[in-house]
Amino acid sequence: MADDLNRETPADRPAPVGPVDPLVVPRFAGPSTFARLPRREDVEVCDVAVLGIPFDSGVTYRPGARFGPHAIRNASRLLRAYHAGLDVHPFTAQQVADVGDVACNPFDIAEAISQIEAAADETLDSSTHLLSLGGDHTIALPLLRAMHRRHGPVALLHFDAHLDTWDTYFGAAYTHGTPFRRAWEEGLLLEDRATHVGIRGPLFSPDDLADDARFGFEIVDAMDVLDEGRRLGEAPVYVSIDIDVLDPGFAPGTGTPEAGGLTNRELLGILRGLAGVKLVGADIVEVAPPYDTSEITAVAASHAAYELLALFARRKI
Ligand code: MN
Ligand code: MN
Repeated sequence: MADDLNRETPADRPAPVGPVDPLVVPRFAGPSTFARLPRREDVEVCDVAVLGIPFDSGVTYRPGARFGPHAIRNASRLLRAYHAGLDVHPFTAQQVADVGDVACNPFDIAEAISQIEAAADETLDSSTHLLSLGGDHTIALPLLRAMHRRHGPVALLHFDAHLDTWDTYFGAAYTHGTPFRRAWEEGLLLEDRATHVGIRGPLFSPDDLADDARFGFEIVDAMDVLDEGRRLGEAPVYVSIDIDVLDPGFAPGTGTPEAGGLTNRELLGILRGLAGVKLVGADIVEVAPPYDTSEITAVAASHAAYELLALFARRKI
């Protein structure tokens, strides 16, 4: 398994290439990669690959998340080199590189899922870890399949206003409201290690919660506080962040907003508290720029991505 992140840079391994120097090329100029990091093809080795997945044909309400990767990359231009809270340089403690976007079929969800799975697999052939930028939450299923191929079942830490363990919509099994039920059915999740954080808002019926409990999920709803890292232990951890876990005041640019959500401070604090977990992959989804205002949502997503990169740099080997 490609699971060991070797932080002792061996003599034959090139030093990580970081973002373009902001004191030479202003932040509003230069490459449009995530955080102005190198493209994957421009570096020899890669510890964390950033993959854009501009797919939103699985949404049940407002579309627009296909423009998420572009908006998050643009907002990431201001991210700086040193993470003081975790005392780590997320961009140079490891090689991070931008793989670009998956070209997904917007008219055929099944084909798009295959394309995303293939792209994730191909990326993981030459990069140790994956940070994906969506896209709607449908994309978590093919990403978890690719993770499973390398790490076996993972402990899922899922940030969202919604359970996303529903069965079908209009008869469709593959949507942004169903990825984790499918993942459970396919055996991609570690039993009794999956947690939802930030759940709130109206449900269809009490059966939604009964089904979810049957799949072994624990719910930390938006009124609770996550006890950092519980249930994760030494397991390989996958973090999936639906930006609608944030309150609409902090993330108006999303497709299915629900009142009463987390603040940025709460989300970033929870992520920071996970330092040391064995993070193997992560995604940030449901950023829909057409409903965003002053890039509030894209900035929030870019900072969540930064926290995730810091966690990759600080993970237990
Ligand atoms: Mn959601
Ligand atoms: Mn979701």
